[in-house]
Amino acid sequence: MAAAGMLAGRLALVTGGGSGIGRAVCSVLAREGALLAVSDINKENAEETVSLLPKYNASTDALSGCAHAAFGTNVTSSSEVTDLINNVQKTFKAVPSVAVHSAGIAKDQFLLKLDEEMFDEVIAVNLKGTFLVNQTLGKAMCAAKVEEGSIVNIASIIGKVGNKGQAAYAASKSGVIGFTKTAAQELARNNIRVNSILPGFITTPMTSQVPEKVVQMVTFMIPLARMGGPEEVAEVCAFLASSRSSYVTGAAIEVTGGLFM
Ligand code: NAP
Repeated sequence: MAAAGMLAGRLALVTGGGSGIGRAVCSVLAREGALLAVSDINKENAEETVSLLPKYNASTDALSGCAHAAFGTNVTSSSEVTDLINNVQKTFKAVPSVAVHSAGIAKDQFLLKLDEEMFDEVIAVNLKGTFLVNQTLGKAMCAAKVEEGSIVNIASIIGKVGNKGQAAYAASKSGVIGFTKTAAQELARNNIRVNSILPGFITTPMTSQVPEKVVQMVTFMIPLARMGGPEEVAEVCAFLASSRSSYVTGAAIEVTGGLFM
């Protein structure tokens, strides 16, 4: 029986797919019928994600016989990102029409103690990585003349409101929001929508080291009074990836339980 779901017949690339939000995105997109190219800096983690996905059930002849596949890519490297897009095309004989860019890091330090190296690293992964993935895939999507392309960049609510100890992270994520709005304006004529998601406080390995006292303080400020699950971010990604959001582009959608609205 052919796969059903709002992403049936779509090839989706997920960066940061080996952990946290990216892994949950892979799971929800696969549930909705997409074929997954799972990428992470650590290929073994991407492979583990693939092993957790339901077997791909093709809904179109073009993708029949395909299986979800894992790729190892450091998104700060233009040559690695180029190789990723080339390898995905070789593997699936198709260009992804969906991408969720979730690769990111958080390194926190107060501004007066923040050294240049740490600032550069956070900007390189979170902002330059977004540029490289969007530009490289955007070129491939345009060359393939995709009918309905959708790119979702994972930013952060901190990019909108800032946070003590997170100057570099906030700068990188504000950059992702502005970048996304510009990409949306430029790529609309190529049938590619580009949106960002601003998660709040989500339970993933990234937040697992936050002290319990801080978790309680932040939770107190969240109207829904709890941290979010990565699958709750993933459901919004699936909506933005699909044609159900066909008139949504350049948006920065908050998935925060109401935090800092
Ligand atoms: P996570 O579990 O740490 O996942 C991030 C993934 O990105 C990891 O697999 C990580 O690999 C990978 N990665 C790091 N540097 C990379 C690079 N240079 N190239 C390719 N992949 C790289 O964290 P998460 O919470 O799911 O975060 C996903 C996205 O959501 C990030 O952009 C983050 O900023 C954003 N976000 C998270 C929250 C939250 O509360 N969790 C809130 C707002 C926004 P390693 O583990 O091997 O480093």
